[in-house]
Formats: sequence, C-alpha cells, structure tokens
Amino acid sequence: MRDPEVVVVGGGNAGYCAAHAAAERGRRVVLLEKAPRADAGGNSYYTLGSTRMVHDGLDDLIEVLEPDERHARTEVPPYSAAEFLDDLERVTGGRGDKELAEAVVEGSRDAVRWLHGLGLRFQLMYDRQAHEQPDGTFVFWGGSHLSNVDGGPGLMAVHEQIAARLGVEVRYDSAVTGLLTEGDAVVGVRIGTEELRAESVVIASGGFQANAQWRQQYLGDGWQHAKVRGTPYNTGDLISAALEIGADRGGDWSTCHSVPWDASYPENESNRALTNRLSRYGYPLGIVVNRRGQRFLDEGADFRNYTYAKYGKVILDQPGSVAFQVFDATSRAMLAAYEYEMPGINPVVADSLEELARAMGVDVDGFVRTVREFNASIDTSRPFDPTIKDGRCASVQPVKSNWAAAIETAPYSAYPVTCGISFTFGGLRGDVDGRVLDRSDVPIPGLLACGETLGGLFSGNYPTGAGLTAGMVIGRRAGALA
Ligand SMILES: Cc1cc2nc3c(=O)[nH]c(=O)nc-3n(C[C@H](O)[C@H](O)[C@H](O)COP(=O)(O)OP(=O)(O)OC[C@H]3O[C@@H](n4cnc5c(N)ncnc54)[C@H](O)[C@@H]3O)c2cc1C
Repeated sequence: MRDPEVVVVGGGNAGYCAAHAAAERGRRVVLLEKAPRADAGGNSYYTLGSTRMVHDGLDDLIEVLEPDERHARTEVPPYSAAEFLDDLERVTGGRGDKELAEAVVEGSRDAVRWLHGLGLRFQLMYDRQAHEQPDGTFVFWGGSHLSNVDGGPGLMAVHEQIAARLGVEVRYDSAVTGLLTEGDAVVGVRIGTEELRAESVVIASGGFQANAQWRQQYLGDGWQHAKVRGTPYNTGDLISAALEIGADRGGDWSTCHSVPWDASYPENESNRALTNRLSRYGYPLGIVVNRRGQRFLDEGADFRNYTYAKYGKVILDQPGSVAFQVFDATSRAMLAAYEYEMPGINPVVADSLEELARAMGVDVDGFVRTVREFNASIDTSRPFDPTIKDGRCASVQPVKSNWAAAIETAPYSAYPVTCGISFTFGGLRGDVDGRVLDRSDVPIPGLLACGETLGGLFSGNYPTGAGLTAGMVIGRRAGALA
C-alpha cells in the first residue's frame, strides 16, 4: 500500500469512527493499534455499549432498535438536547467546554443513525435502565436508554467489520511512539524506528488512566492504587507526544471517571472476561459504609447514572480505600444480576448486623449504630419508587436523599468495593472538529484528536453513556475533516 492519507492512532470506538468517516470520503486510511489483536478494542471493548443520545421517545428510536416484543409495553421518556446539555452542565459543575458539549449533544442522534446505517445494531437497556412495573410494563429512567447489541465486544467486532468493508487497513502491535513534524505541521507518526507519513494524523489513543505515575502526578497521591477497569494500554503516549510538539493541554487534568468496583475478586483489573461485571452500581438501593462502620456519601443523591462516576474517588479516600455496600434481603432482591451475580462474586452474608460487621472487619458498634440511626430517620410518608427520584429520604448525616429503605430483613449482604478508574478527563485541547490547538489557540496543521484523548467535555463527574457518544460524534467529525 502507498503511504496513507490519514493515520488514526488507537483502535477504540473513537478511532474507528474517525477511520470510517475518512474512508467513506475516499481517503486511504491506516489505523495503528498498540495492542495485539487478542487484546484490541481499547476501553471501548470493556463497555456495556451504553450510548446517550437525544431522542423523542420510543417512536423516534424504533428505527435503530432491534425488534423486541417488550416494545409494546415500554415507556421511554423523550430526552431532549436541552436535558442532555443540562445534565452535562450539572454533573460537571459548569466546568465542561460548552462548544464541545453542544457539538456532542447536537450530533448524538445523527451519529447513532450513521453507525446504525453502517451496520451497528442497537437495543433498549431493559436490564439496567428500566424498572418493570407490577402490570408488566417497563419504565425507563436516567437519560441513557440504549446500547449496541452485545456491548463493548459487539461494538468492536462490528467496527472491525465496517472498517474492513470500507478498506481501512488495521495494524495491531503498532505502538505509536512519536509524531513526525515539518515546520508547524504534523506529517506522520513514528512507530519505534519506523516512520509512516500521512496528510492527517487523528489521535484516538484514550486517556492516561493506565499510567500509575501520571495518575499520582496529576490526580493526586493515592491514585496510583486505583484499579484500572479497562485497557492497560492507555498510558498517555500520544498526549505526551502532542504536548512535546506544542499542543495545549485540554480539560480537567485533576479529575477522572472512577466508580465503585469489586474489591475482593483477585483479577479485578483489565479483566476482558468479566469487563463491566466488576462494577457495583446498586448502592442507591442500600447504604455504603467504611471500615469504621460509618456512612460517608449520599447513596440516593441522584439516579446512579449521575453519581457513580464520582463515587470511586470518594471510596479511594476512605481508610484502606475500601468500603462495603450493605443490603437487606428486600433490597438485595432488586440488585442487577449482571453485577451482583457475577461468577466468582464473594459477598459477606450474615443473619444479624453484628455478625455482618464482624465478617466485614468493620467496627461493630459503629456499624450497628449507623444502621439503627439510618432506619429510624427514614421519611416513611413517601412511597419507595426506584423509577423516579422519590424523595424518600433518611435525615441523617450524610443524608440519603432518595430511595431510603430500612435495613431490617435478614439475611444481610455486604459487597466490598474499592475505586476502579475508567478514564481520565484531561487530555489535549481541541475544537469541535477535533483540531488540536497549540498554546496560542492555533490549530496544529495535520493533527486531530477525539475520544478520551480530547479533554474538555467532563470534569469531576460524568453522565452514563456520554463517552461513547462523544467518540462517535467528534471521531466522525475529525475523520471527515482529515
Ligand atoms: C469498564 C468500562 C465500562 C465503560 N462503559 C461505558 C459505556 O457503557 N458507555 C460509555 O459511553 N462509556 C463507557 N465507558 C467509557 C468508555 O470506555 C469510553 O469513553 C470510550 O470507549 C473511549 O473510547 P476511545 O476510543 O476514546 O478510547 P479506547 O476505546 O480506550 O481506545 C484507545 C485505543 O488506543 C490504543 N492506544 C493507546 N496508546 C497507543 C499508542 N501509543 N499507539 C497506538 N495505539 C494506542 C489503545 O490500545 C486503545 O485500543 C466505560 C469504560 C470502562 C473502563
């Protein structure tokens, strides 16, 4: 093959979207992936494929959904651009890049339709984003309603098929080590001693979450101990290479996406077999305590779609960076089987609170006091309803704002959790087409970035499903420009 016109660095969702968009426009595209084929797919492989998009309800979504007999009994509240923007603004505390946010939100529906047209299949997330009502209907909540079929592995398998069809050449075991420049412009990449020239280079090599030294340096002391949920290959190589040639840093380098994550399973990092099943997102239905037996966060502050990505850090800050999610028999029965019936899961189970505390290794008196005070403070005048923010609060410190239910029915279960890091929010600074900007705000000719490499969209927190959407929208735009 002649020199490519476009080189894409990184074979995750964002990189493939860029590659497809460039190839659709007739460009010769080479995609370089650091991992061997057996480990490829980046963080995108580890996802559930949850994709947040603007839509007008089920009638609007139906054209991209696989047939499902439950559709006739399903209510999917519309999700407007204003709501998506508002969610981004709220969870990031207004610190996100507004132009980037608008581009992602406005482009979300079209990007999903584009990928559907290329062959990606979608479905509603019945098991994780809906509650079944007593009359057999399903009510969706939380703004992120669909995923692609077969989650991350399915997503990456289809991306590979589309790329092959469009003539994209994919090279595995190809770690890019540097950028080639001529004057101000990027004219290719270095892969060890090999050079590959191209008119445009699109960096889609993820964040730096798998680089323990950078985590400690930029996120703070203690972060070197966080568990890497996804790919071990995203170590910030190309962020570093771009900074070296004058690119500007983008977004919030001091925060990241991190979640409650199984603390006791032995292989709880970059586990390609269990992927996302090591997540523990059922805490809104119970309470979370630390080793002192004390609660330390508001489990019911919001739907978990809007809290889970910031609670990993809160757990990291607890003694031993460990905590326990506690449920009684009633709340245990409502937990998602996908996570809480993971093969090899090892909860602590006991018939009394004292026994549970001893088995967890937490302070017994502290724990029993916590549960008693919590139970006594619940506003029982409001009915428990997990499909809405039901306002059924527990007025203790810290408050549990919604879904408070007494921990009172044996057996009791406790799930040990730690901090699992998903991806970093800081990266390179770019515009809405992924053009990488230098420190004087000028685009670096020939250099684009998308996906987690591009900083700016998120800070402190994140709404479920927005990472894949961001990669689809900006990846597609960057590829079209490349
Ligand atoms: C367990 C887990 C579950 C998640 N679930 C979801 C979800 O359901 N929905 C959602 O929206 N987001 C989810 N996320 C976040 C999410 O993964 C993404 O935002 C998205 O997949 C990132 O895509 P990307 O293409 O930017 O990066 P990646 O998919 O990580 O791809 C980057 C690629 O670059 C390669 N690379 C790195 N360095 C080099 C180099 N030097 N040379 C060549 N290649 C290199 C890597 O090997 C990797 O393949 C989840 C994350 C995790 C960890």
